[in-house]
Amino acid sequence: MSGNRVVQDRMVTADSLAARIEGEPVMEADTIEDADRACPDCGGDVLTVGYMPSVTAFVTGWKCQDCDWSETDRD
Ligand SMILES: [Zn+2]
Repeated sequence: MSGNRVVQDRMVTADSLAARIEGEPVMEADTIEDADRACPDCGGDVLTVGYMPSVTAFVTGWKCQDCDWSETDRD
């Protein structure tokens, strides 16, 4: 697959990146994209991925490629 990225020295797919942000497996995930922002913790590159944690929800998540920082657009 061409959408794979490296996060904290591990290869991730959209599904596995979304699962790391969410903390549990997600139903479906979009393609990983580069976020136009830097990590607030370490200044590293940030990836973004949209995913569905359940059939009724769509969440946009962000994850640093270099440290444990992540965030979602949930309230
Ligand atoms: Zn970071």
